[in-house]
Amino acid sequence: MAKGNIGVTTENIFPVIKKFLYSDHDIFVREIVSNAVDATQKLRTLASKGELKEEAGDLTVHVSVDKEAGTLTVSDRGIGMTEEEIDKYINQIAFSGANEFLEQYKEDANSIIGHFGLGFYSSFMVSKKVEIVTKSWKEGSKAVKWSCDGSPSFEIEEVEKADRGTDIIMYIDDDCKEFLEEYTLSDLLRKYCHFLPIQIAFGKKKDWKDGKQIELDEDNIINDTTPLWTKKPADLKDEDYKQFYKDLYPMSDEPLFWIHLNVDYPFNLTGVLYFPKIKTNMDLQKNKIQLYCNQVFVTDNVEGIVPEFLCLLHGVIDSPDIPLNVSRSYLQSDKNVKKIGSYISKKVSDRLASIFKQDRKDFEGKWDDIKIFINYGMLSQDDFYDKAKSYALLKDVEGKYFTFDEYKTLIEAEQTDKDGNLVYLYANNKDDQYSYIEAAQAKGYSVLIMDGQLDPAMLGMLEQKFEKARFVRVDSDIVDNLIVKDDKKKDEVKEEDKKTLTDAFTEKMPKLDKIEFMFDVKPLGENSVPLIITQSEYMRRMKDMARIQPGMAFYGEMPDTMNVVLNCDHKLIKQILADAKAESSDKVAHQLIDLALLQNGMLKGEALNNFVKRSIDLI
Ligand code: ADP
Repeated sequence: MAKGNIGVTTENIFPVIKKFLYSDHDIFVREIVSNAVDATQKLRTLASKGELKEEAGDLTVHVSVDKEAGTLTVSDRGIGMTEEEIDKYINQIAFSGANEFLEQYKEDANSIIGHFGLGFYSSFMVSKKVEIVTKSWKEGSKAVKWSCDGSPSFEIEEVEKADRGTDIIMYIDDDCKEFLEEYTLSDLLRKYCHFLPIQIAFGKKKDWKDGKQIELDEDNIINDTTPLWTKKPADLKDEDYKQFYKDLYPMSDEPLFWIHLNVDYPFNLTGVLYFPKIKTNMDLQKNKIQLYCNQVFVTDNVEGIVPEFLCLLHGVIDSPDIPLNVSRSYLQSDKNVKKIGSYISKKVSDRLASIFKQDRKDFEGKWDDIKIFINYGMLSQDDFYDKAKSYALLKDVEGKYFTFDEYKTLIEAEQTDKDGNLVYLYANNKDDQYSYIEAAQAKGYSVLIMDGQLDPAMLGMLEQKFEKARFVRVDSDIVDNLIVKDDKKKDEVKEEDKKTLTDAFTEKMPKLDKIEFMFDVKPLGENSVPLIITQSEYMRRMKDMARIQPGMAFYGEMPDTMNVVLNCDHKLIKQILADAKAESSDKVAHQLIDLALLQNGMLKGEALNNFVKRSIDLI
């Protein structure tokens, strides 16, 4: 038996590994199993070149637990190691400035492990002792056992081993016993090894017989060695993509559509991205894309690699060209990563454009679901806006869809104001703004529905992008003022009448929290409503912005100013003007106010009760 010291410059690497890598210590599963897979793939290559004298045989990697001995073992039939190779690859962990580096990256276990090839040593995060029993593929090799108990010294001896390959035997620490539990390990294998390219067996397959679970003879293979993204798109059917999605996200609805990524120059990248069906905002999560490196799971945080708005998609990306051992901020300045980001963004845009072109109906059918992704992209990336503007849609209150250009052509004639601005009318709630929509439509205007989460921001942006365009909500003014077509006529209402009416109504307005009413009197025609409540587009937008943007709280605190327009052409308003003091006028004014409030969803509590009583009296 030989003894020696592990060649690290740090006094003792193991406490460091344990301490700094603790938070991420389940990564050891990935490291040990993927080492076994690497060794097996190397063997396969040798066999295919005819360099292997014996049969390659069954190459399945086995993961097994011995609860009594407290061990977790990963066994492969790969190339194995000779004693010299153990010395070279395991004993001599050559690194310099280790302390400094560990200090710098102590938050990020991935980067330390990647940087130093500490893969194997990650087993010490969970083990009090680790043994390697290995026999090289090379003819005449002797099997050896290396063992180390977590101090920088190790032992190595010759042993008997029938088979070529390596067993890594981990004596699990007392405080890490969960790694000996079947379900914990199953979960970890699923997370890290689900798509490794060599079969991994964990225990035996199980079945139910006579109400009892029994073990079958067959190995329980936990991975899919040729996942969908490694196959050619031409060989795949829609069903395959849907099935793969189901495997990845068993709880999700069927995806809307998908994009198969496949590029080998100037970088290597494969993958499949799915547009998910979003039911609630809860589904909008940024950690649903899994990043792999040659089928080894790396992370489900792809921020900094995938453009931000595409982080909301689901799916898988596999690339050996993404540097994994660097910090996120460095990642974003990496040239390859930048190229990968714009490649993905372009692919997504091309795919959307092609669905739009090939099947407009299908595209429209999916629009309400994909709108949030596309809008997010248009808002956050100028070059995506430029691509998407040809297929992004606007929807009117009747449910019809238009491209930006189509809609412009539609409204140009009727909705251009006196200054040559195109006025886009919109509603954000068809029911609440029903009467305003109706009034606008009666005038021959088209009204868009803008009820999406990002629509307030979208319309602000579209005003900037479109030339001479304004977005105006239908209830922001009386219909005649929404689109001013000629210079305003002189106000024909006498100041004195204005005052009489305003006074008569002001005192009857209910006191509402944080709402102020401003009165105006206008001749709107005898067939228009007698009283109408509006809120200026500007004020409302400021308040909307205050809700979503920090730093604008000031606007949020301001009371809402609502405009109340009295139509002095209307019979009832005329009556009140004629005899403002009469008791009948009082009742009518009250009733008119309440009706208008009711229409705007602002009549509540006691005021609503009073209204109901008064109405019954009137009947
Ligand atoms: P890395 O895999 O990043 O090189 P590791 O610390 O995980 O770093 O492994 C160091 C080396 O030990 C590997 O490069 C490989 O040569 C050898 N090795 C580890 N595990 C095995 C195994 N199961 N079979 C054969 N060689 C192995």
